[in-house]
Amino acid sequence: MGLFDVVFHGSDEMYEKARIAVRETIEKLGEDAPVAFGGTAYSLACIKAYTGVEVNNLAELREALAPIRAMMTRNYRTADVFHSGIATVMAAEVIEACKYAVNPHPYGDSDNPNENKYHGHMVDAEVRELGVPLVTRDIPGFVVLIDEAPTDELAVSLIKGYQSRGIFVFLLGGIIDQAMRMGLKMGFPVRVVPVGPDIIAVSHIISLVVRAAFIFGNIQPNDYVNMNRYTMDRIFAFVNAFSPVSDMTVACGAGAIAMGFPVITNETKDMNWRVPKSLVINTNVEQWIDCSLECRGIKLKITKMDVPIACSSAFEGEIIRKADMRLEADGSRKDCLELVRTLDVHDIEDHRITLVGKDIDEFDVGEKICMATVVEVGGVKMQPDFEPVMERKIHTFINCLEGIMHTGQRDLIRIRVSKAAYSAGFRLKHFGELLYAKIKNEYDAVVDKCQVTIYTDPEKVHELRVEANKIYDARDARVSKLTDESVDVFYTCILCQSFSPSHVCIITPERLGLCGAVSWMDAKATNQLDPNGPCQVVTKEKVVDESIGIWEDVNEAVSKYSHGALEQVSLYSIMTDPMTSCGCFECICGIEPFSNGVVIVNREHTGLTPLGMTFSELASQTGGGVQTPGFMGHGRHFIPSKKFMKAEGGLARIVWMPKALKESVAEKLNANAKELYGIENFADMIADETVVEGDPDALVAYLTEKGHPALEMEPMM
Ligand code: SF4
Repeated sequence: MGLFDVVFHGSDEMYEKARIAVRETIEKLGEDAPVAFGGTAYSLACIKAYTGVEVNNLAELREALAPIRAMMTRNYRTADVFHSGIATVMAAEVIEACKYAVNPHPYGDSDNPNENKYHGHMVDAEVRELGVPLVTRDIPGFVVLIDEAPTDELAVSLIKGYQSRGIFVFLLGGIIDQAMRMGLKMGFPVRVVPVGPDIIAVSHIISLVVRAAFIFGNIQPNDYVNMNRYTMDRIFAFVNAFSPVSDMTVACGAGAIAMGFPVITNETKDMNWRVPKSLVINTNVEQWIDCSLECRGIKLKITKMDVPIACSSAFEGEIIRKADMRLEADGSRKDCLELVRTLDVHDIEDHRITLVGKDIDEFDVGEKICMATVVEVGGVKMQPDFEPVMERKIHTFINCLEGIMHTGQRDLIRIRVSKAAYSAGFRLKHFGELLYAKIKNEYDAVVDKCQVTIYTDPEKVHELRVEANKIYDARDARVSKLTDESVDVFYTCILCQSFSPSHVCIITPERLGLCGAVSWMDAKATNQLDPNGPCQVVTKEKVVDESIGIWEDVNEAVSKYSHGALEQVSLYSIMTDPMTSCGCFECICGIEPFSNGVVIVNREHTGLTPLGMTFSELASQTGGGVQTPGFMGHGRHFIPSKKFMKAEGGLARIVWMPKALKESVAEKLNANAKELYGIENFADMIADETVVEGDPDALVAYLTEKGHPALEMEPMM
C-alpha cells in the first residue's frame, strides 16, 4: 500500500469510529444532550477552526460529521492527503467529545489534572498560560511523542532531552506507561503532559494549537488557509512517532504536516512519500532531538555553566516536597535574602564565586538554613535602575534548575534543594555559577564583570538583611513616586507580536504590560540593554487629552509598531480606543450594564462572573491584537492604579472581582480609593464569588447595600 492509501485508510478508520461513537452516545443520552470539553470558549476547537461549525449538543455533533467527511477527498494529490489528515483529527475530536458527553471527566479529577494518568482536554487558561513563555522563547517549541519507544530508557532520555532544552512535551499512548515505569515527573508545571492513551487524544493537542491561533492570532473560524499559515509560521511544533505507526496515526501525521509540523519516525513500512523536512524517516531514535529541531528550524540559545544538574524553563514549575528535600532556605522563618548591587568595575573580580559559611553537606537533612545571595555587577553602562530587574530574574534563573524550587524575592524567598540534586553533586557554589553565567549572558550589554557571594553564616546573613532592607526601601520609595506625569517617555512592548502580529503594549509607570511581567522600569531596562529590541521609547510631547491618556506621539508609535493595524489608543479608557489585548493578559475586565460598573476576573479563577461568563468566555471577546470597546485585558497590578479606567471615572467602577484577586490588590486599592474619592475600605464594597456568582440582580442588591459609588456614576454606554 502506498502512503496516500495509508492516510486515506487511517482517515476512514477514524471516521468510522467517530460515526459509531456519535450513534452510540445518542442512543445512551439522547440527541439533545450537551457536548462540551469545559473550560473553553471555543466549543470543539478543531471542528470550529476548520469547518466554522459550533457544536453544543449531540445532534449538532452528528451534523458536524458531514463537513468532516466532505474534507476526506480522494484524488491522490497532496492537498487531498492534507485535507484528509486534518479531517482525521476532527473525527478524533468527535470521539473525544462523545467521551466527555458521557462523563465530563473521563480522565479523572478535573481539579487536579496533573495528578491523573492522562490529562485529556486542556482548558483555555492553560493555553493562555503558554503565551508569555512562547513569546520570550522560554518554550522554543512543542513535541508530540506518539506510542512506545524501543526501550523505557530511550523513552525517558528523549523526553528529558527535550525537557532540558525547554521544549514542551506532549505524550500519547504507550510512552506514557514507559515514563511512569521510569518514575518520571509529569504534568503541565514540568511541561511534560501525558495527554491520552492513544492517537485519538491527539485532538486535544491540536485543539490547544488552534485555540492559540484564535486567542493570540485573531484567526477566524473556517479560515483553513490562514489557520495553517499561522500554525506553520508561529507555532514551533513537531511530531516524533515510534514504529509500528498505525494508519490512523499516519493520517493524523498528514494533518500535522499540513499545519507545518514535521513528522520524524523510525517507521519504514509503506513510507514511499518523502517530504524534505516534513516527513523524515530516521531509524536512529537517538538522533531524533537534533534532527527534529533542525527540521522545525528551532535554534536554541545555550548558556554554558558549570552546574551538575539540568537547567531549563521546563523545570520552572517543579515542586519539591518536604520528604524529597535536602535543605531549605525559608525567608519566613530564617534570615534570607537576594540582592543585586552595582560596584565599581575595579572592585569586582569577574567570575569570583564565594561561599561564606557552611555548605549543604554540613547541614542536617531537611534543615532550614539562613542564606543570602549577593550578586555584584559592574560595567560602564550599568545603572542602579537595572538592579531590581536583574534581581527579580534570580527567581526564574534558579527555578529552572532541575531539583531546585524557588519562590519569592528579596528577603521573602524560599529555596528548596532536593535530595536528588544534592546526590547529583549540587552544592551552594553552583547557585553562584548559575547566576554568573545567566547574568553575563542576558545582560552582557551592561554587565562587564560579575561576582557572586553566597552566605550561610547566620550572623552575617542577619547583618546583610538589615542592610538589604534599607536598599529595598529606598528603591520602593523611588518607584512609588513614579507616575505617568513624572516621566518624559513611555515604552512599547511588542514581544507578543510573534503570536499577535498587530499587538502593541504601551508601558507607563502606572500601567504595566497586560501580561503583568513588564513594568515601566523593566521596559526601560530592556530598551537600554537591547536598543533595537521589543521595548522602544515613546515620547509624550504632543498631548491631545492627558486626562484620558491620548497623545499624538503615542498614536504614532502604536500605528508604527502595529504596522498600521491600529491608529489610535486611549491609555486610560475601556470604551474609547482601548489598548489592544494579545491573549496572555493576567486579568480581563468587562462592563456590567446593570450596575454601571465593570467586573474583573483573573485567569486562575474558573467560576462564573456576574456577566454569566467565565474568564475563558470573557477573554474570548478580545485578544489577537484588536481593540474591543467594553473589554480590556490587563495586568493584575493595573487594577489599583489611579489610571485604571480614568476616562470612565476610575477604579470606583469596579463592582466585582474574585476574592483572592481582590485580597491581593486590596491594600493599594483602598489607599487610592481613599485618596481619589474619600472612600474608606473600598475593597469591601466590591462583590466577590462568596456573595455573588452569575447573578446580576444579586450583584446590584449587594452594591446597593454597600452604597457602591458606581451606582451613582454617569452611564458608560
Ligand atoms: S508587555 Fe505586552 S507585549 Fe510585552 S510580553 Fe507582556 S503582554 Fe506581551
